[in-house]
Amino acid sequence: MKSVAKQNKPSVATTNAPAVSAAPGGRGNAWAQERLTADRASEEEDHGHDHEHDHEEDQSRERPARGGGRGPSEATLDAERPVGAAIPTDLRARLMAELTSAAESNSVLEAIREKQGNLDFPIVWSRRGGYQLRDKINLDRREPESAWLSTLAHEIVHLKAHFYGEQGNTATQGREAYIQTQMDEEIEGSASSYVTLLQLGITQNSAGGFNEFVDWLAVEHPELARSALDPDEELANQAEIKEVARPWLEDHYRNEWRGSQSGLNYYDKWGDHWDAEHAATP
Ligand SMILES: [Zn+2]
Repeated sequence: MKSVAKQNKPSVATTNAPAVSAAPGGRGNAWAQERLTADRASEEEDHGHDHEHDHEEDQSRERPARGGGRGPSEATLDAERPVGAAIPTDLRARLMAELTSAAESNSVLEAIREKQGNLDFPIVWSRRGGYQLRDKINLDRREPESAWLSTLAHEIVHLKAHFYGEQGNTATQGREAYIQTQMDEEIEGSASSYVTLLQLGITQNSAGGFNEFVDWLAVEHPELARSALDPDEELANQAEIKEVARPWLEDHYRNEWRGSQSGLNYYDKWGDHWDAEHAATP
């Protein structure tokens, strides 16, 4: 039996597959290779396979400080940000306030509230990686707050899909439909986080592909990249930015980006995952 998540666990530290191609300005992607360890693996085993896409996908985020020599030590992190513990209340309040101040993320949160009756979903620390698993969002405890913000903006899109029962399902969907569902959600998550960041006035962030997208937008759609003086026009521009972000993201997911664990193209990875699930079912 073969599973995308499991077969790659042992090779996490050694894989050299790029998660994101080098972006202008020399931003690299080396950090992605360090992600994913036992805390996630064990949870994954409890959970099955339906949602593990984020365990890899969000490794497309680039590491802000390279070399591993910066930032708190593991011992400090264990004391201050224990794996699995809820993030501090004040941090949560700050992040949620930022998300609700952006029209894009706010609409996602309102959809979650409508379905769940509240916005009390858990946000907890992970050892490595930012991802949604069931009703929980995990934030990488090693990252800076700017990364947690963009991670959350992306992951609430997955969370919304989870609550609405819209996530891909290998048991009920055919192969192509499953791949399409997974990738549509992925692209929507990234497009939504890009627009959220831009609505917050942020033009540099470690979110996978974001800086490259901002550069591309300035060249290809200067009329959208330019901030309008008229608020209505600005809102219309932001809706249009999401529309141009979708095909840009699809092209990158199809042709440039690879999962840092599997080294596979995302579409191939989901196809392989569907195959593995079906091979394993008697
Ligand atoms: Zn995602």
